Amino acid sequence: MKAIVYDFSVPKYVAAKGLGRYFPSLYYGKPSALKLKEVQPPSLPGLRWIKVKPILAGICGTDMGAIFYKSSPALTPFTSFPSILGHEVVGIVTATGPAVTRVKPGDRIAIDPFISCTVREIDDPCPACQAGLHCLCRHSGSSAGLAPGMIMGFCRDLPGAWAEAFVAHESMAIPVPEQLSDRLAVLIEPLSVGLHAVLRHPPQAGERVLVIGGGMMAFAVVAALRLLDIPCHVTHYCRRTFQKEMSLKLGTDKVVQNKKELEEDLLTIPSTGKYQPLIGPSVYTGGYDVVYDCVGTRQTLHDAIHVTRDRGQIVLVGAAGTVPALDWTFVWAKELSIHGSLGYGKEKWQGEELSTHELLIRLLLKHPGYPLEDLVTHEFPLEAYQEAIKANADRGAYQSVKTVFRIFDPSVPE
Ligand SMILES: [Zn+2]
Ligand SMILES: [Zn+2]
Repeated sequence: MKAIVYDFSVPKYVAAKGLGRYFPSLYYGKPSALKLKEVQPPSLPGLRWIKVKPILAGICGTDMGAIFYKSSPALTPFTSFPSILGHEVVGIVTATGPAVTRVKPGDRIAIDPFISCTVREIDDPCPACQAGLHCLCRHSGSSAGLAPGMIMGFCRDLPGAWAEAFVAHESMAIPVPEQLSDRLAVLIEPLSVGLHAVLRHPPQAGERVLVIGGGMMAFAVVAALRLLDIPCHVTHYCRRTFQKEMSLKLGTDKVVQNKKELEEDLLTIPSTGKYQPLIGPSVYTGGYDVVYDCVGTRQTLHDAIHVTRDRGQIVLVGAAGTVPALDWTFVWAKELSIHGSLGYGKEKWQGEELSTHELLIRLLLKHPGYPLEDLVTHEFPLEAYQEAIKANADRGAYQSVKTVFRIFDPSVPE
């Protein structure tokens, strides 16, 4: 079968880091870590495993981080390669092991790609998994059951969905109700990440919220705020006009596209003030109650720290790594709280405790017609993976939000 294999090596890394700026093919062309290959189709590795034929599989920021070598080296103990990338997927179950009870062949499912103690088939699960927070599994660096890895596609023993077939543990299956289209179902994974981020610190009614970023994560956070029907005022800071239009369609109250517009919006919040330090950019008193930074660069972290009110909350959704020269003054001088957010897990919502995916699917069914499918802006066949990567990297030129691989089309008879 065809698959996009990612094989990290230090020489490729060094070449791309040195020259990738001039020769982008060092990242995703012939000499890169990424290759479309003919590989052996996977077979079921255990009694509780299932085989899946992907329909659509998304490209995510984590994949781009690996392809462009931007992920922090701090995470390398929690990955193992070579592997097949791809962890956002909707597909059809084609085979099941004899002990599988959750799904049957023919079922349409999305996948929870995080590798938990259950997936590793560890009898005595770690405290994180016991608490339902499997994304924080303490075995992700171990070789128990499977090679090290936090998610499918980043684990040598659990190749991902950029392929004509993949296998998964039955606990990873998320059955998709028939009301949800394939294009919506392929977003279940990233939308769950946005929902979990919002629930790390949900705004109160009437609060002012800022969402920073123009990528899928920012839209997933905006969507979560609206799907949860939280009556808060949402400002979305994204640069491009197509992002602005998308955001307004999803129900953002205000979109700001540059520093000046952000400051104008900030100063509409009662009791905010602007001051000019001896050197450097303006500083403010007051500000947004909750800020979701869905980018995680020096600039966005700077903005988040500077425009959050005293005792306000910052949720770090973007995968920030080493951030040079960040001024932390207002973290203590305004007693800010910064919450990290990873994946999903168990949520408390309106007196109930349930998984993020369960809550998301319930909310999606409650809001039919909410235009989330529009976030899937580009579809490519696996063969066109180099252009797919380009479309995802150059959001401005392609006007892309979520780029996906179309691996098979259920409406076309085989
Ligand atoms: Zn992802
Ligand atoms: Zn665990």
